[in-house]
Amino acid sequence: MPDTITSPTIASLANDIVACEACTARQECDRPTPFYPRTAPARILVLGRNPGINEDRQGLPFVGRGGQILEAWLQGLGITREDIWLTNTLKCYTAADRKPKAKELSTCWDLHLSREIGLCRPDLIVALGAEAFQTTTGLTQLTNRHGILYDRIAELGAYVMGVIHPGSALRSNLFKDMMIEDAKMLKPLLPITLAGTLKQALPDGYTAQ
Ligand code: SF4
Repeated sequence: MPDTITSPTIASLANDIVACEACTARQECDRPTPFYPRTAPARILVLGRNPGINEDRQGLPFVGRGGQILEAWLQGLGITREDIWLTNTLKCYTAADRKPKAKELSTCWDLHLSREIGLCRPDLIVALGAEAFQTTTGLTQLTNRHGILYDRIAELGAYVMGVIHPGSALRSNLFKDMMIEDAKMLKPLLPITLAGTLKQALPDGYTAQ
């Protein structure tokens, strides 16, 4: 079960997200879905695209089928939900899982995600899929850039790695192979990040762009 949110600042952000009506995506969902409940900052932030229909109904991200896929992916990486801050780039469900519009993504970034990253203070952001990757790095073409470490310490206080979304990997062998490559790059970084030493020195074989 999720933790109870005890930090007033974190709770305030969650409340502001739930009350938000700032963009067109709000018209297609039951309510905005905030981040998976946390009581404290986390060194790893995992960033998805936006809630699906089950998350919208329950008001929690990464539950139902999406949650099962995520759990299996985290288990393969040797971490759990409790190790990470888990959230979405866009906080509202979009009808028929349509792609979020650029204006919706920029509005949600300005109002919520930028503030959220400031509260979470991650050392590493793992961007699941193209929208999360573009929002945090400004870069497109994730399929050519997945599994690469990007230095966004000046802008976000964190490194960013874009990875193939584990949900996409279920639909394509090509994406599945890419996801396996990503896990090989990501997994060695996670214990170092959790120990708080990632920003002191990258491990041998790693550089950041
Ligand atoms: S997507 Fe973000 S900015 Fe748009 S209504 Fe939902 S919470 Fe607000």
